[in-house]
Amino acid sequence: MNKSKRFETSVIHAGYDSKQHLGSLSTPIFQTSTFTFDSAEQGERRFAGEEEGYIYSRLGNPTVRALEEKIAELEGGDMGLAFGSGMAAVSAVLVALTKTGDHILCSQGLYGCTFGLLRMMNEKYNITSDFSQMETEEEVRELIQPNTSCIYIETPINPTMRLLDLEMIARVAKEYDIPVVVDNTFSTPYLQRPLELGCDIVIHSATKYICGHGDVIAGLVVAKKEFLSEVAMTTQKDIGGVISPFDAWLLLRGLKTLPVRMDRHSYNAAKIFKEMEKHTDIKRVYYPDDVQHPDYSIKEKQMKQGGGIIAFEIEGTKEDAQQLLNNLSFIQIAVSLGDAESLIQHPATMTHAVVPEAERLKMGITDQMIRLSVGLEAWEDIWDDLEKALSKLPAAKEGIKN
Ligand SMILES: *Cc1c(COP(=O)(O)O)cnc(C)c1O
Repeated sequence: MNKSKRFETSVIHAGYDSKQHLGSLSTPIFQTSTFTFDSAEQGERRFAGEEEGYIYSRLGNPTVRALEEKIAELEGGDMGLAFGSGMAAVSAVLVALTKTGDHILCSQGLYGCTFGLLRMMNEKYNITSDFSQMETEEEVRELIQPNTSCIYIETPINPTMRLLDLEMIARVAKEYDIPVVVDNTFSTPYLQRPLELGCDIVIHSATKYICGHGDVIAGLVVAKKEFLSEVAMTTQKDIGGVISPFDAWLLLRGLKTLPVRMDRHSYNAAKIFKEMEKHTDIKRVYYPDDVQHPDYSIKEKQMKQGGGIIAFEIEGTKEDAQQLLNNLSFIQIAVSLGDAESLIQHPATMTHAVVPEAERLKMGITDQMIRLSVGLEAWEDIWDDLEKALSKLPAAKEGIKN
């Protein structure tokens, strides 16, 4: 595939050549568990790695391979691997990178299950982790230990939308020869490409924007061939969290519209952010494309647009926050994000319910905070739904009385 093509073209054409598949425009779904050999000797050669070809779908499948080649090109990396979930991808990478007694330096906030995985690795293998906003080079240097095996980052951080400077962190990590892993789920390669900023490994929960239609659980990893071939032959093959060919096909289908969808998600979110900022019953709004955001300069540096996720805090109590969700008409109450439908959730009692209260508050996740994944509906309708729901809260009613 021609690497000089623009993103919008690669997202449609990379990783697939219809001429090799009887002219089929859509990538065929190779719904097979295994692949037959012409002879016993061919089987021997395939297992010995002396001959290219498929063996068994846990070790590779043509539909899955098309997806892996596409995501590798979109992230600007040399190899991609697909998994049965975002967490299968995260665990395959972290287990491959660490051994007993190692240390992992992490961003201040992490996806709940990634946090759970780190806790398990600590209990079982004495692998420790530190969490930091990593705002300066000095801060990163101070936290790197002789046994630090990787730096693991989410940016934007869920749900507070704080950002970390990927180029700066990658530059410092390089001095110590420590790989930087980035969970790029919230941004997708259309808005942010960590490998181009010097980071080493990119992970996606493809369940979210990559799929975009709320019908698949999947994960993706892009990195150097040397590292990912090892993952393919160890933590992917032997732990076995692979994706099904049909789910890979659904991701290939969803990916074709990624730039169009991300433009619209970002446009809608920016519009709703502006309305929220003006609303008297909303205490605070968290959105990266905001000149007053503490990390706005990082957004300008590494993100093409602000993305589709907004967090906000209302005036009132936890019950008021829950009432707001109950007051909505078409915005759906659900975790997950990145779908055509606008999805809303209450982090304190849903995605971050497992985080102890003190720690949760330290992360800035209050009982009044709500996270909205802005969908592809008309932004005016999304705002109308929110505004009506807000107007029914006690704070709004008191406002009328005054
Ligand atoms: C959803 C999510 C994950 C986990 O992905 P699954 O596909 O649900 O396993 C990891 N990281 C982030 C940032 C996520 O949003």
